Amino acid sequence: MRPTDAAVAATDRWTDPDGFRAPAGLVHAWLRGANQTVCGVPLSRARLHRFPHVQWVDAQPATGRDADRVSQVCPRCAAAMGQKRDSRPWTRTNPRP
Ligand SMILES: [Zn+2]
Repeated sequence: MRPTDAAVAATDRWTDPDGFRAPAGLVHAWLRGANQTVCGVPLSRARLHRFPHVQWVDAQPATGRDADRVSQVCPRCAAAMGQKRDSRPWTRTNPRP
């Protein structure tokens, strides 16, 4: 699964001054059309908001442009999506050559 394929579901939402609806609180990875998150949480039962226009990579607090109000990233979704990214700057040092 490529991280760019995933959108975002979050426990909260906010609208920035430009009217862009962005995720807030705890974010999960979500595949458009699915009724649950990547880690298996049912959207309706958990009352998660869907953000089909926000990519998973953009909701990461460390690097994402739409993550201003994201306070937490679901660790199970993060593990499923993979933490390693090479198309974006990532400051964590990699011990392997
Ligand atoms: Zn999750």
